[in-house]
Amino acid sequence: MNTITIAPPPKTAGPPIQKETTAGNYFVANYPPFAFWKAEAIPDFHAALDRAPAPGVPLGLYTHIPFCRKRCHFCYFRVYTDKNAEDIKGYIDTLLKDLAFYANKAVIGGRKPRFIYFGGGTPSYLSPDQLRFLTEGMKRQLSWDEATEITFEAEPGTLTDHKLRAIREMGVTRLSLGIEHFDDHILEINGRAHRSKEVQRAYAFAREIGFPQINIDLIAGMVEETEELWKETVAKAVALQPDSLTIYQMEVPYNTGIYKQMKAEGKLVAPVADWETKRRWVNYAYSEFEKVGYTVTSTTTVVKDPAKVKFEYRQGLFNGADLLSIGVASFGHLNGVHYQNHHDFQPYVDAVNAGQLPTYRAYVVPEDEKFLREFILQLKLGSAEASAFIQKFGTDPRVQFAAPLAWIKEQGFLVEDGDTIGLTRDGLLQVDRLLQEFFKPEHRTGRYA
Ligand code: SF4
Repeated sequence: MNTITIAPPPKTAGPPIQKETTAGNYFVANYPPFAFWKAEAIPDFHAALDRAPAPGVPLGLYTHIPFCRKRCHFCYFRVYTDKNAEDIKGYIDTLLKDLAFYANKAVIGGRKPRFIYFGGGTPSYLSPDQLRFLTEGMKRQLSWDEATEITFEAEPGTLTDHKLRAIREMGVTRLSLGIEHFDDHILEINGRAHRSKEVQRAYAFAREIGFPQINIDLIAGMVEETEELWKETVAKAVALQPDSLTIYQMEVPYNTGIYKQMKAEGKLVAPVADWETKRRWVNYAYSEFEKVGYTVTSTTTVVKDPAKVKFEYRQGLFNGADLLSIGVASFGHLNGVHYQNHHDFQPYVDAVNAGQLPTYRAYVVPEDEKFLREFILQLKLGSAEASAFIQKFGTDPRVQFAAPLAWIKEQGFLVEDGDTIGLTRDGLLQVDRLLQEFFKPEHRTGRYA
């Protein structure tokens, strides 16, 4: 990479810090933020599909299943709770047609997906027969025989022994259980469909069936969370001995039920814990897991055995892999272009059934932003190796990002160790607000917590 234009201006004051949880997106999931992806770039995305992939870039596959039993009050995903069996059958047919648009394009270049991810929504909302029909149809178009990780998100209350066996038989290697909390009152008041009894039953079935990896998700700071209930939830999570644990700090985006209620009541502050408390709770959970031998491997995860438990989907994404995404509102990245599909059900289904790619918006990522994107995403894992970036992009992040790194150091969050640019635990728990410092000025959202 020769031309770099993104050095942020030196600063010492840093961004304002918000203590309370207010409405809006807080977490950094991609770069640049989705708001900068535009319909005008769709022709560039379609042109990119007719080019061969860059040598050595792995391919991943994401499938979005947008159905849920109930809408959780904190949910900001594109989900539907009112679709009938016919709608769901039609959606599965549409997914297979969506995949067919890509299967013979130059962008695939003979690659087979290395990692596959079923997300939602609730993929486990589908019946065993629907799952078999979908996955067999997918495999006929793009073989799964080189996939080393197949992740499947599941809501505990939708799982039976029979369905879990079907999920394992599809080839799923990593089952991700959306538990969120173990207290029934907290689950209920936050609009979750399942209860703790279903969690214990589903987890026991899944263990018995022998999934190679079971991840459980928790959320720190749900409505009415208390210190005591959080500690109990962490103790129950430790007792399950999952292969990995993911903890999200509660954010309250504008399209959530919680925000709607805040708006109706004229409130600016969400009825959930402040950011400092949420970080403290996550840190408590990490410490409890560390006591029994787990390792913190990112801002949101601890794993039992890092040598054995990989998360290839995330590794691929954070290292510039291609991601072919199918389904309503799903996000992908192919040949240097980000894209998102239509974000409403009917326009998505109608476009595919009319023989059109269902692209809603796209963004051609310039070279300097590829470097920036990979660097900030890797900081979410806790550290980045400068030499790997020099080798891949010809630029040293310690030089390129001297100003934001100096600011992070001033705050006491930076750990420099030779080639490694790392974050302290405190820094890691608030990495998303620190990452804004690396953004191009025109991409900053101005929200810091
Ligand atoms: S189960 Fe997940 S995707 Fe479905 S409504 Fe709840 S948070 Fe959203």
